[in-house]
Amino acid sequence: MTRLVVVGAGITGLTAAYEWHRARPDDEVVVLEASGRIGGKLDRVRLAGQWYDTGPEAMLARVPEAVQLVEDLGLAGQLVAPATTQASIVLPDGRHPLPPGTVQGVPTSADGLDGVLTPAGVARVRAEADLPPLHLDPNGDVTVGGLLRERLGDEVVDRLVEPLLGGVYAGRPDDLSLAATMPALAAQLRRAPSVLAGALAAREAGARSRGDADGPVFVTVADGIGSLPAALVAASRADIRLRTPAHALRHSGSGFELSVGPAGSPHILTADAVVVTAPAGKAARLLAGVAPGAEEPLRGIPYASMAVVAMAFPAQPVAAGSGLLVPPVTGRLVKGVTISSAKWPHLSGGADGAGVLRVRSSVGRYRDESQLQRSDEDLTAAVVADVADLLDLERPEPLETHLVRWGGGLPQYLVGHPQRVTAVLDAVGAVPGLAVAGAAYGGVGVPACIRGARRAVAALL
Ligand SMILES: Cc1cc2nc3c(=O)[nH]c(=O)nc-3n(C[C@H](O)[C@H](O)[C@H](O)COP(=O)(O)OP(=O)(O)OC[C@H]3O[C@@H](n4cnc5c(N)ncnc54)[C@H](O)[C@@H]3O)c2cc1C
Repeated sequence: MTRLVVVGAGITGLTAAYEWHRARPDDEVVVLEASGRIGGKLDRVRLAGQWYDTGPEAMLARVPEAVQLVEDLGLAGQLVAPATTQASIVLPDGRHPLPPGTVQGVPTSADGLDGVLTPAGVARVRAEADLPPLHLDPNGDVTVGGLLRERLGDEVVDRLVEPLLGGVYAGRPDDLSLAATMPALAAQLRRAPSVLAGALAAREAGARSRGDADGPVFVTVADGIGSLPAALVAASRADIRLRTPAHALRHSGSGFELSVGPAGSPHILTADAVVVTAPAGKAARLLAGVAPGAEEPLRGIPYASMAVVAMAFPAQPVAAGSGLLVPPVTGRLVKGVTISSAKWPHLSGGADGAGVLRVRSSVGRYRDESQLQRSDEDLTAAVVADVADLLDLERPEPLETHLVRWGGGLPQYLVGHPQRVTAVLDAVGAVPGLAVAGAAYGGVGVPACIRGARRAVAALL
């Protein structure tokens, strides 16, 4: 019998445990988790009588691994498609519908941008045609903001791309890697004469690869995406050890030894194979002894912290579609509002059958985390006030609120990230029996994390 040890009980670690158990049901699978709960960034609360996600709340269906996993777990009946995906961007001059047909906010032409950009901003986009042809180094990387400011002007970055990237990464276009955060666009831009032409090509290539596939772009889970960790634990039959951090990893004979448990009195756990899914900084420390080449690139992956406030208000009309994206140019506290009761049909009802307005809002971006120093009470009140103002609520007194802090919530794919990931994977891949996976590498979304876990297990097996 073989013993697999997985470090971290987030979606990546629990998926790795499940996939290993499916392939080798007689093996022993131990999952070490530093905190007192499973799930990592997946979590849910009861909000006005319903399960409500306070971590991820939507999963991209075009990366099929999350939907497949939910189906494999026998939970296909729990998948829910959004009732609306029409979001708006809040700008200093008011609210504007998200223009259709952009590639992560990058326009394919100057048409349809009136309103969301000023006339001067639209003219600047149109003027890309007068710039010299684009030449991107095929092996290099640039920041999203650096490239787009030069080619299309500041407004495209500050009013369109920032709200979309800010929502996914809690990061800033001026720091984030084009190749890592917009890989489909980056691939087209290496041969396109302009950003507009490259974005159009990326959009068309995406449509071709989807073919006739219809179905929603995003899905959620009726009992919360936060219900998946417990389902994975049950299906994997893994030995989950809570409050049991891994401190160090060493070679031992043909396998490994991990130092685990309380820092003052750790004990040794042996393993034939190890999958490390802890965030980059922790992974760097663990891998230093067995895959030293991974340490420095992992230390180059910082994280953004944020807080999510879940709120229930009395039912009332709100004309904001699925939600609002709120970029820093507005000077607002919150960076977005999701109108969950409009977006997800199962979240519109209250415990007594009457309607409830359920919304969530988040605060905090990379290198802009000062508001997170406020007390829970103060931060919650400030978020409720900002949301009530943004939505122009008639009845702004919440029935219920929950504040959840996510310290080190999202890894930042800074310029050069693909090279960093390659260096980590090369160093780890050279060590038989060792693998890494998780949000730090090939995508922060839940489906990408599940894909990474499956690949890690397949490589080890
Ligand atoms: C507020 C928020 C909203 C999000 N919204 C979405 C969304 O709508 N859709 C989407 O697809 N994605 C979303 N994401 C991203 C996604 O949820 C995460 O990227 C993903 O869940 C990360 O999973 P993971 O398993 O890689 O890491 P984690 O969930 O961070 O799990 C790693 C685990 O390792 C443990 N650990 C750390 N060090 C050690 C150690 N030394 N020993 C043992 N255990 C250790 C940690 O305690 C943790 O439980 C969101 C993220 C956040 C924070």
